[in-house]
Amino acid sequence: MGKHRILILGGTTEARQLAAALALRTDCDILLSLAGRTAEPIAQPVPSRSGGFGGSDGLAGFLKSENFDLLIDATHPFAARISHNAAVAAGSTGIAFFALRRFAWKQQPGDLWTCIRSIPEAVAALGAAPKRVFLAIGRQEVFHFEHAPQHQYLIRSVDPVLPQLGIPDARYILATGPFEEAAERALLTGNRIDVIVAKNSGGTATYGKIAAARALGIAVIMVERQQPDDVRTVETVKDALGLVDHLFSPAMKRGV
Ligand code: NAP
Repeated sequence: MGKHRILILGGTTEARQLAAALALRTDCDILLSLAGRTAEPIAQPVPSRSGGFGGSDGLAGFLKSENFDLLIDATHPFAARISHNAAVAAGSTGIAFFALRRFAWKQQPGDLWTCIRSIPEAVAALGAAPKRVFLAIGRQEVFHFEHAPQHQYLIRSVDPVLPQLGIPDARYILATGPFEEAAERALLTGNRIDVIVAKNSGGTATYGKIAAARALGIAVIMVERQQPDDVRTVETVKDALGLVDHLFSPAMKRGV
């Protein structure tokens, strides 16, 4: 009998962990797909490909021509376009499909969060008075902060922000998580940060800054997720493995 072919849309720690766990199954062929944005991507535990498919039609064509049996969207909770494309391509091809998305963080007592829906809303939420702002939102959307040049910015990203912002006071740090709370505290106090702008990515790797902000009484402008809620979703790698078991069980294949 042929192996089950699984395409994992990745770019996250969970995608890598899921791929590694599925690679132990002798009945599955795994391909991990990456956007190809990161200059030096982390080594992957299974065969991988890199670069866009050309929209939902391109992804649907790839799924069909490569005879995939299952599509798993394990992209970042803020990678909205590829997630939308995945849902559309799964619908048009009829291939089995689910999303793996880690839990969103929940506010704890002591957190000083302002929850908003988009980066432009975050720019407005900073207010008119000058502040020292830590931007921990990746590099793709930081250009929006050119609309608020009165603030001082500390901007952290995995790859460089290019071009740099046309504002008087922005400093840049290149770093890849995980980020521990103690180091985040030192960063926030050392730079006398007043407010953090963060995405509600969930997971532990980037939670250090949120815990540090709580301990130090620093405000967080939190960009909440806008994901489609009509997609079958699991929140942990363990649950994803359980669902793969279920989908490839003999009873499911008989349509029972
Ligand atoms: P996006 O806006 O949703 O995607 C833009 C386009 O990039 C997609 O339409 C697709 O191109 C291509 N693409 C994205 N992910 C892909 C994948 N895994 N495999 C193949 N093509 C992919 O995504 P994004 O926000 O730019 O994120 C890109 C990647 O970085 C994702 O894999 C995501 O998991 C990871 N990431 C994102 C964030 C974030 O905050 N957004 C943070 C950490 C990691 P086509 O339409 O041509 O297929």
